[in-house]
Amino acid sequence: KKKIAVMTSGGDSPGMNAVVRAVVRMAIHMGCDAYCVYEGYEGLVQGGDLIKKMQWNDVRGWLSEGGTLIGTARCMAFYERPGRLVAAKNMILHGIDALIICGGDGSLTGADKFRAEWPSLLEELVANGQLTKEQIGPYQHLNIVGLVGSIDNDLSGTDATIGCYSALARICEMVDYIEATASSHSRAFVIEVMGRHCGWLALMAGVATGADFVFIPERPRDRDWKADMSTVVRRHRELGKRKTIVIVAEGARDKDGTKITPEEIKDLLADKSEGGLALDTRITTLGHVQRGGTAVSYDRTLGTLQGVEAVRAVLEATPETETPFIAINENKIVRKPLMKAVAETKELSKAVDAKDFEKAMGLRDTEFAD
Ligand code: ADP
Repeated sequence: KKKIAVMTSGGDSPGMNAVVRAVVRMAIHMGCDAYCVYEGYEGLVQGGDLIKKMQWNDVRGWLSEGGTLIGTARCMAFYERPGRLVAAKNMILHGIDALIICGGDGSLTGADKFRAEWPSLLEELVANGQLTKEQIGPYQHLNIVGLVGSIDNDLSGTDATIGCYSALARICEMVDYIEATASSHSRAFVIEVMGRHCGWLALMAGVATGADFVFIPERPRDRDWKADMSTVVRRHRELGKRKTIVIVAEGARDKDGTKITPEEIKDLLADKSEGGLALDTRITTLGHVQRGGTAVSYDRTLGTLQGVEAVRAVLEATPETETPFIAINENKIVRKPLMKAVAETKELSKAVDAKDFEKAMGLRDTEFAD
């Protein structure tokens, strides 16, 4: 009987509970034993009670819960081989032969490294007397499948990561609240949203709320962005707009790579000197409300469908299969090579760092206004 474990790792995202529920139930449905590894890689390294066998009823009601109920953690030990050696031993002692991991690109990179090292980890465990040849016998190949859980929608090769639409919905809801008061007082608001390397949330929130101006890492602004923004905001005001909304991603920057901060934007909007906009301006940093709360229906269905597919991928894998992750492309749930997607993601981040993103992505000028 196959023993399939599921874990969540890295930053939490809405929809991770849907993944765990789907994996547990699909595994049981397919005649396997289902396990949860609590607290991400920390659970593998510590073992013991953090690796638990799950029954059908244990995941009842999980679809409507936010966060991840099996916990997640950053685990320093797993970055190093000795940590992964203990993890391998704990997996074998629990009899686990397949691991489904829902996390960001860091977690998935760690997973692939673990799988690549697996044969040598087993050798070492036998050589230093921690396990016997008989004990490792049935575990020659580690079967791993990745699922992308991230609010940032920051993995190449999939149209949406599990959690990104919940975060986007939350941001839009918050911007709506702010707009009501902004409009009443004819104020301006600078709203900072998450996204250090990826501006998807900021960009989509800008489109969905009709923001006046958006700053994202992928489109570094010209050095004279202040003049550009002032012109746009002034034009919108002249058209009769009583509110000004500027959305800025955490990783926003100019073409020199200098961070563009909400404070600078606020100072510009509030500038009372001659020719200044002189708007009554506030800053709102949305922070962790973007991560928390329940998942929207899209993330619940995505997590469920991908969780089911992950179990199928585990059951169909052969030792030759490249480590897959489950993606969604044009509304179809598909398996793709994990490390190719991680490598592409790294290339794109490098392009952002090299301030060459527009070329890499073929982006054109963007401006969003009501
Ligand atoms: P995310 O998965 O959201 O990108 P992190 O990058 O923090 O988040 O990764 C989560 C955990 O995955 C880390 O705490 C570590 O245990 C493991 N991990 C990340 N990158 C690696 C790596 N290159 N090698 C081994 N383990 C890694």
